[in-house]
Amino acid sequence: MNIKHNIDRHGRPHTYIRISLTDRCNLSCSYCMPKNGLNLSDLNDQLRPDEIIKIIRISALFGINKVRFTGGEPLCRKDIDRIISAVKNIKGIERVSITTNGVLLSKRINALKEAGIDSINISLDSLNPERFSAITGKDVFNEVMNGIFMAVELGFRPKVNVVALNDLDTDEVDRFYAFASKHPIVVRFIEFMPLCGENIGDVKFSSVKWLEQYIVEKYKLKNAYMDGVAKIYPLNGKEKGAIGIISPISHPFCSDCNRLRISSAGILYGCLFDSRGINIRNILRNGAGEETIMNLFEQVLLWKNPSHGLDEPLLKERMSEIKNLIRLIGGYCILIYFPILRGGVYGEQ
Ligand code: SAM
Ligand code: SF4
Repeated sequence: MNIKHNIDRHGRPHTYIRISLTDRCNLSCSYCMPKNGLNLSDLNDQLRPDEIIKIIRISALFGINKVRFTGGEPLCRKDIDRIISAVKNIKGIERVSITTNGVLLSKRINALKEAGIDSINISLDSLNPERFSAITGKDVFNEVMNGIFMAVELGFRPKVNVVALNDLDTDEVDRFYAFASKHPIVVRFIEFMPLCGENIGDVKFSSVKWLEQYIVEKYKLKNAYMDGVAKIYPLNGKEKGAIGIISPISHPFCSDCNRLRISSAGILYGCLFDSRGINIRNILRNGAGEETIMNLFEQVLLWKNPSHGLDEPLLKERMSEIKNLIRLIGGYCILIYFPILRGGVYGEQ
């Protein structure tokens, strides 16, 4: 078997795949859930464990070495530890991670550890329990915190993702700084993009530049370095964690993009901002072999644009264009990690 060409037309090697394990979720975060609810996919259309494992085995032949499971909420899938343990045994796969809302983490963390998971990202948008419940729609702050602390006890250094919503204030930033100082946790502030959730249309994009400036000046942070898409500020002295800033709009990281994405229904995408996808679930179920699937990976790479085209000066125009696109195709889109765009999907029957 020849290794296919995993470098796209813009010279970017693709070594990372993000797979949504489900479009179901046990929270309903205001910025993520569309006002009129979700168009959930048929459960028969969700990838089965054997299909996920097969796709990752083929990805490894294509040159992928890192896998992240996301969703929806990936821990809503009871078979996740079985999937992780099989993926850990695939030759060529070096790292397996998840992004979770943490609600079920304390219950599942031992199984995840046993399965061999390498790292865990947990979303936690507020350290104020009331604000947390207002954002997520559920009173489960303590469950999430327990999950985070159990992960730390088991030796992980979790990344905590905080979407920098427009009402995030300096008190909240200070609380997160204190949290990262006390625990071996990397708190990463993510630029909020009001595209798909309930806030769509009402709230404007807000850059995290102010936040970075505030935290760097107040706490005298220095020696920042890039870790994937995040700019990381190590904390000094006895402080344990780190602070990260992820700003896909104000500082796009497209030039280093190494990602392919697969929705829980098995649609392969090259970029969240490009609705062209290929239904590899149907193609696999029709008996396609490794070579065919790798050709489809190559096809998606051919489609990839050099950037998402949402750079700040163009943002206003592109936002309305993308919103319309998302509404037209009737999909549930979570901007950075999880597109289920129903338009332009090849291989649909
Ligand atoms: N349910 C899991 C969770 O919440 O971590 C995994 C899926 S969730 C879509 C993955 C990440 O995307 C979360 O950290 C979430 O906060 C982030 N996210 C979702 N919508 C976003 C938006 N409009 N802007 C920025 N980040 C967003
Ligand atoms: Fe669920 Fe994650 Fe979306 Fe919140 S951000 S509704 S936890 S998928």
